Amino acid sequence: MPKSDLNRRNFFSATAGAGAVASLLKATEGTGEAQSAQSSGFNRNSAPSDLKITDVRACTVATYYDYPIIRIDTNQGVYGLGEVFSAGVKGSALMLKAHLVGRNPLEYGDILRELRWSAGHNFWNSGLGAIDLALHDIAGKVYGVPVWKLVGPKLRDKVLIYCDTTGADNPKLMGERVAKRQAMGFKFLKMDLYTSLVKDKPGAVFPTGAATQKGLEYLCEFIAAVRDNIGKNTPLAADHFGNLTVKDSIRYAKAFEPYNLAWAEDFIPYCWINWRGFKEIKENTTTPICTGEQAFGLEEGFRDMLDNNAVDIIHPDFVASGGIREIKRIHDYAAVRGIQTAIHNPGSPIAIMAMTHLACTMSNLVALEFHAADMPWWQDLAKGCAKPIISDGYVKVPDTPGLGLELNDEVVKEHLRFPGYFEPTPEWDMPGTSNFQRRWAGPWPHYDEEGKWCNCVTE
Ligand SMILES: [Mg+2]
Repeated sequence: MPKSDLNRRNFFSATAGAGAVASLLKATEGTGEAQSAQSSGFNRNSAPSDLKITDVRACTVATYYDYPIIRIDTNQGVYGLGEVFSAGVKGSALMLKAHLVGRNPLEYGDILRELRWSAGHNFWNSGLGAIDLALHDIAGKVYGVPVWKLVGPKLRDKVLIYCDTTGADNPKLMGERVAKRQAMGFKFLKMDLYTSLVKDKPGAVFPTGAATQKGLEYLCEFIAAVRDNIGKNTPLAADHFGNLTVKDSIRYAKAFEPYNLAWAEDFIPYCWINWRGFKEIKENTTTPICTGEQAFGLEEGFRDMLDNNAVDIIHPDFVASGGIREIKRIHDYAAVRGIQTAIHNPGSPIAIMAMTHLACTMSNLVALEFHAADMPWWQDLAKGCAKPIISDGYVKVPDTPGLGLELNDEVVKEHLRFPGYFEPTPEWDMPGTSNFQRRWAGPWPHYDEEGKWCNCVTE
């Protein structure tokens, strides 16, 4: 064997294989465009301490609720994908750009702790959750591990999906609509049961908008029709009853008892304030009570509910409740109190995959929501992951680095709500919220300690 070949062989064995060498060589090259570096498939974990966030960009996919998708770029070509809550806007993430650029994304614990105060209840500022998803994506890619390894040990290889079904205006159609989802392979179903469905029936609805006893009998006809189609034992949840009081909710929950619901959701609003109302409902029915999609944070949104055993199931939203890191905290706190967690998720494949990584680590998981059964191109938005993404009612937990998917650029571009695909965002170079940045870079004209106008940087 020629000497040069022998030397090369020794070098390969000393560095644990061709992949390691390729990674080493690639990491010494200059920084390239995010997309090209990503698609090269090389792990850039050779220089994690030099990794810096360089940009945050976004685009919005037009859907039933929309998917505002964000991308965090770095100086080493690695990028992360995240998503704002479907009914939110990309600005809730982009307004934090100035607090991210220049930071090392691997310090995601510190970053998320600092940005925590930008978030709030009721879907207003789910940008923090979107950033949580994107930072986990980057960290997984850099360390060469699936995101679930950053979260906790994997307890299951596939995650059970629950499939949402929008309301139909007569029981027969509602039954058929839910049954269609069961025929698609979904094992856990949810129906929207608006009180307004029966508003035109004489004597069915009080002026307040709550159903009368007669109205509840009509509403139960919808559930009965669904049960006739899907059977008594298939898990079936119900949501969207309207604006009810605690007493109304108890009447509803008791009327639903014969139908063995998996849960009744969001009977009353503002669970972070009115956990006593939920507790009163729960203690007066055998129908399981669930809420939480509009609550942010363990301490801010869920702790009182959990300490007081006020619900049977909590339902944090994939980003509005804080993203992967925060929902894990919420779940763990709930689990030791015997309260189960379902995940609210009306998002894109990014959202489903991010929550699959999280959900596979949860000891007390009920199911993860899927809200796009009527969108034929939903999974075409993603590539680089196993297809179909949902198979026989489950999502397989990926073992590829990061979230384990990329965007299919062509398909996303076909469905943009607004022109522009991850365009530059100079309008967000200045902080969109709170000007108190720890690591401000650049001159900052101000009066110094002696009252002189200066153009220096003061730490
Ligand atoms: Mg809901």
